[in-house]
Amino acid sequence: MKVPALAVLSPRSAPVPFTSELRPVGRRDVLLEVLYCGLCHADLDRLGSTEGRYPVVPGHEIVGRVVEVGRRVRGLEVGELAAAGWVTRACGRCQACRDGHAAGCDEASEPGLGGYATHAVVDERFVFRVRDGLAPAQVPALLCSGSVLYTLFRGCKTLPGDRVAVLGNGVVADLASKLAAALGAAVDRVELAHLAAIEGGDRAWASGFDVVVSAEVDPPSDLADQRQHVASLLRRPGSILLCDEPLYPPVVGLSVEWGEQTAGMAVTVCRPEQTQEMLDLCANAGVTVDVELVSFADIVDAHERLEREPGRRMVAELATLPAR
Ligand SMILES: [Zn+2]
Ligand SMILES: [Zn+2]
Repeated sequence: MKVPALAVLSPRSAPVPFTSELRPVGRRDVLLEVLYCGLCHADLDRLGSTEGRYPVVPGHEIVGRVVEVGRRVRGLEVGELAAAGWVTRACGRCQACRDGHAAGCDEASEPGLGGYATHAVVDERFVFRVRDGLAPAQVPALLCSGSVLYTLFRGCKTLPGDRVAVLGNGVVADLASKLAAALGAAVDRVELAHLAAIEGGDRAWASGFDVVVSAEVDPPSDLADQRQHVASLLRRPGSILLCDEPLYPPVVGLSVEWGEQTAGMAVTVCRPEQTQEMLDLCANAGVTVDVELVSFADIVDAHERLEREPGRRMVAELATLPAR
């Protein structure tokens, strides 16, 4: 199936109008008409690389409408809203697939068949339902950092009533605060620069957190210097989640648990079921994110702005794709 798209033909070149060839819709595939696609710094990383195949149709934060389902697809109907991320298919047989880490499968995605196109073909296992209560244009902004943050919160077993401290003022810190609150946690925003000055009764407030999310836009170059202050926020044992901006899978972040004596570490992997749980949580709790809608006519400028500010949340509307 040939569809209009924008593609990058060689490393670091600008996206240009392109006709993309999608695989046929298989028995377990879903054909999405793309409505919105997120602009994510992970694409710019990929497009700056001289390795891998070109041309590349960027875009791995997709929301669209189901326009066709394969014969064996169950539970997804034509006309429904749905979303897709990095992984569009997987072999189902390799060790990564059997461990539930489809992002690690060699067949996990088709390089260059992203959401800067009118349509996408996605294996039903990696199609996410978009429930009422989620604005379609916001969904792309949740798929990467939302999935990572949710996975991290689940990894450190954040429960209703837990105290969560969030350091940082960027979009990741904002989303972390909203997701933690949606999980029922009591959330406080804390400024690292002010911690040393907190004394007396405020000192009691600024301690005893179950989880500390460190999401500084400009993390301190020597985090060890700051550890003492960050650790002072925590009850023992608790969890510190280190989240640089930008934040996207499969680079899935690091959870550092501080026990009585030693620090243990766990790398967490995002699974499709957790992305679905995160989207459902956002729909139920009314979590919203601020996104800037951009036109594909301005995509070069938008990529440049994203390069300068990797934390920006921009979403392109497919209705603006040229040469439709
Ligand atoms: Zn992304
Ligand atoms: Zn596999």
